Amino acid sequence: MNIERELGFKLQHGIKKDEPLSGHTSWMVGGPADYFLYPAGLEELLEIVRYSDKHGLPLYILGNGTNLLVLDGGIRGLVIKIGSPFNYTERENRFLVAGAGIPMSALANSAAETGLSGLEFAIGIPGLLGGALIMNAGAFGGYIGERVYTVKLVDFTGRVVTMTREELNFGYRESSLIGKGIIFEACLELEKGDPERITRVMEKYSSDRQDRHPNLPSAGSVFRNPPEKPAGKIIEEAGAKGMRIGGAEVSRKHANFIVNTGDATAADILNLIRAVRQLVKDKYELDLHPEVRIVGEER
Ligand SMILES: Cc1cc2nc3c(=O)[nH]c(=O)nc-3n(C[C@H](O)[C@H](O)[C@H](O)COP(=O)(O)OP(=O)(O)OC[C@H]3O[C@@H](n4cnc5c(N)ncnc54)[C@H](O)[C@@H]3O)c2cc1C
Repeated sequence: MNIERELGFKLQHGIKKDEPLSGHTSWMVGGPADYFLYPAGLEELLEIVRYSDKHGLPLYILGNGTNLLVLDGGIRGLVIKIGSPFNYTERENRFLVAGAGIPMSALANSAAETGLSGLEFAIGIPGLLGGALIMNAGAFGGYIGERVYTVKLVDFTGRVVTMTREELNFGYRESSLIGKGIIFEACLELEKGDPERITRVMEKYSSDRQDRHPNLPSAGSVFRNPPEKPAGKIIEEAGAKGMRIGGAEVSRKHANFIVNTGDATAADILNLIRAVRQLVKDKYELDLHPEVRIVGEER
């Protein structure tokens, strides 16, 4: 099997070998992908998935890498980025059909421009729609799952599947879409609204984010909020703000963020996650669970 010769020549962007994933994650850490592929559209995506299925190659899917800790040893097999070739929207009455590669802010703006309300919460979430559907991303009381009408994906044997609202479950930062395949499009059901009001709400949300979030590279909230209290509050009360391992630091601005102060490795971040977890466990007998997804191999 020579993947570059057999598959690479068919793809507009070819195949990158040993591509450092630190360039594709918001934490700016992570080792190499054996093979990195950037499909130029649905046909290429199908070609890639069928090839991987035929040869038994593992597949990992990447959006904007804003909820991911890719470990320093990287990811074996194929890593497929669903990016700008899948960045589009089309309004059909109250429905907005969008490609999985559209950034959440662009999606919110696109809905606002056509006078559709229901995606205001998405402004400022730095991920793409595909990753947001997997994570059931949300903010300010809204979440993407409640807007889903249908989701289109390519399953791991290379078939196009449409899943309807009734077949999908969305929970707190998780969805039943995990492990089903590669999402390439979704249809969202929204409400007609006043563009000026929608824009005002989005401006308010954007400024709230700027006030609360640190500016250094991060992956947003590291831990899920337990029912008792927001994880950030618990971590702050435990005295972990400013705690540091290597180049990774518990943000002084928002304790549920771990920031890369410049030269962090994934191991620094992972060790800091473990240390914060242990501290909270020792102090409050409470087990915090990561919201970020930890993938790949340690070095
Ligand atoms: C500063 C900052 C603020 C944030 N604020 C919020 C917030 O307010 N609310 C919130 O919910 N999250 C927030 N996040 C986390 C993150 O932005 C969201 O979880 C986002 O939806 C992840 O999208 P992504 O494209 O980056 O996905 P990735 O991190 O690339 O991937 C996440 C998961 O989805 C899978 N995946 C990605 N694309 C696809 C696809 N097309 N098909 C199938 N699987 C796919 C990946 O394999 C992985 O398991 C924040 C992150 C940062 C850095």
